[in-house]
Amino acid sequence: MDIFTSVDKLQEQLKSHKNNDQSIGFVPTLGALHQGHLSLIQHAKETSDVVVASIFVNPTQFDDKSDFENYPKTIEQDIALLQSIHCDYLFLPTLDEVYPNGPILTEKYALDSLENILEGATRPGHYQGVAQVVHRLLNIVQPNFLFLGQKDYQQVLIIRNMIIEKQIPTEVVMCPIVREEDGLAMSSRNRRLSPQAREVAPELYKTLLSCKTNYKDFTVAELKEWAMANLNAEPLIQVDYIAFCNADNLEIIHDWSEAKNALVLGAIFLDPIRLIDNIIIY
Ligand code: AMP
Repeated sequence: MDIFTSVDKLQEQLKSHKNNDQSIGFVPTLGALHQGHLSLIQHAKETSDVVVASIFVNPTQFDDKSDFENYPKTIEQDIALLQSIHCDYLFLPTLDEVYPNGPILTEKYALDSLENILEGATRPGHYQGVAQVVHRLLNIVQPNFLFLGQKDYQQVLIIRNMIIEKQIPTEVVMCPIVREEDGLAMSSRNRRLSPQAREVAPELYKTLLSCKTNYKDFTVAELKEWAMANLNAEPLIQVDYIAFCNADNLEIIHDWSEAKNALVLGAIFLDPIRLIDNIIIY
């Protein structure tokens, strides 16, 4: 695997593939890689001739400075993992390469109501920062395919919107959530859970799964009440939200008939780590 820190060198290399009509798959990450990230690269390898991963902890998507500064950095281990699955290229840019004029939000993206709900409700500016950095990375890599995890479902819709708004010729591929054996969705944050918190963490997945299994027997309101109570019954868990949404646009649904495809999303605080997960109900 070749590692590029400069935009020019990466583009020069990718140009030779493009000239040979080879398709490029791109997997952007913040690093601290786990099997969830690696699954995206595996999906990319199945679809694309050449796979580029990036590791860049983007300051403009962090509303909390200490969260940004304390974001886990495991670069040596990340490189070894990427090499082990034969990722072709790693783009590891400096701040200046991505933000020549400094890390500030310079553009307002039309993300509509998606921006301020669920994960956006408590993180002002977060999705503008995500849209901006992915826009910049797409301009640099110019991939045919962009691989994103369902784990961050709202982010997938936000990036899809940005790609349409900016008329970028890249196809978004959403990849399934990779889980631990007990169902806990893999996340860089899981390593910060105490042993006691780790033990109860799969409760989020189990609760969402029960919603999917039983949805035909209950109203949306009944299921939401049950899910909140079930999670809050665990002393270490504090529910942030449980939301039943139209999978196409994340609008809240009140009746199963309101959406052709529905999704349940959940966020919990767990001693004090915040975890998210979601399941497509139908
Ligand atoms: P991050 O480094 O957290 O920005 O994640 C980079 C990409 O990996 C995003 O598209 C995430 O949705 C995806 N991802 C993170 N965790 C998982 C997981 N458990 N399964 C599948 N994809 C994941």
